[in-house]
Amino acid sequence: MKFVDLHAQYLTIQEEIDAAIATVIAESSFVRGRHVADFESAFAEQIGVPHCVSCANGTDALYIAIKSLGLEPGDEVITTAHSWISTSETITQAGGTPVFCDTETDYFCLDPEQIESKITPRTRGIIPVHLYGQPANMDAIMRIARQHELWVIEDCAQAHLASYRGQMAGTMGDAATFSFYPGKNLGAMGDAGCLVSRRDDVAEFAALFAHHGGKNQHLMEGINSRLDGIQAAILNVKLKHLSAWTDARRQIADSYDRQLSRIPGIRIPPRRPDCEHVFHLYVIQTEQRDPLRDHLRQQEIPTAINYPCPLPLVPAYDYLGAQATDFPTAAHHASRILSLPLYPELSTADVTRVATEIEAFQQVTATSG
Ligand SMILES: *Cc1c(COP(=O)(O)O)cnc(C)c1O
Repeated sequence: MKFVDLHAQYLTIQEEIDAAIATVIAESSFVRGRHVADFESAFAEQIGVPHCVSCANGTDALYIAIKSLGLEPGDEVITTAHSWISTSETITQAGGTPVFCDTETDYFCLDPEQIESKITPRTRGIIPVHLYGQPANMDAIMRIARQHELWVIEDCAQAHLASYRGQMAGTMGDAATFSFYPGKNLGAMGDAGCLVSRRDDVAEFAALFAHHGGKNQHLMEGINSRLDGIQAAILNVKLKHLSAWTDARRQIADSYDRQLSRIPGIRIPPRRPDCEHVFHLYVIQTEQRDPLRDHLRQQEIPTAINYPCPLPLVPAYDYLGAQATDFPTAAHHASRILSLPLYPELSTADVTRVATEIEAFQQVTATSG
């Protein structure tokens, strides 16, 4: 069993993918070109926003989005203590200071109740992450943002097609960023990313900034962050399957829920009401995380920990002088979370085998006391 099996997915669409790549090679449309333009309009339409600006990866998308919202040196941006470091490192790259905020007990996302105490006169924006594929509490976050005139960037790297109270993830903030890293819910065969926005000004700036500030008449200095034609052609093929793959992910999560919810000591991932979780990751919690993980490894069941350390406590942020007690919820989760294998092609038999092994381990631990 694999944690994510990219080759299994390729085999289901091999002919389409091979043909798409051959077309790009025949046309030599390697950088930008029609496949990139097609993908940008198809993805914008899928999310339900007027603009999509593609770029090299999801980290660049965050950096470009932050720049497009006009961050200035010394500005502060509030973000979650529980994410991948792209979410915060790009704030620093753009000249700002990340201000970390603890997470919700149930949903692992930025806790709106903790945001206001972190707002200062230098705060410019908030970056919530729809972590593991479950939307953050956007009503509360958008209300605080409006009250304090802050912008919001949704980090949707794990949340393609997730929705919050009928609104698609990526349509609620001033901008939203996506990653198409191979293992993401929509993945290229290399690095790729994009940002989407309802705002004309943001999309216009982003398209210029990502491409050297324009062609010949450079309106500003920018960066070089482009989607290449082969990745775009691959993404065009895969986008058509995304909705079915998302359904498959949800069915696997339902099946895990059914089989794991009756096992004492295992907490299945709570789902926010009125939202569609797209299960980029299926994350359980247990006090016996490390021994359970060892047991599963012995049974050749791979797992992952996303992520083992709250961001403000990694060495890169030693300068903040933060402690685990400053982020009690994120720190609590970091020691208990375990991501189980989940990808659309994972078989029912494999899901049952994972659940059975978890149950066997929990029974032994319970009886050995
Ligand atoms: C994957 C990821 C990113 C970065 O995307 P890349 O394409 O790998 O640069 C950003 N934020 C989150 C939450 C991610 O999971």
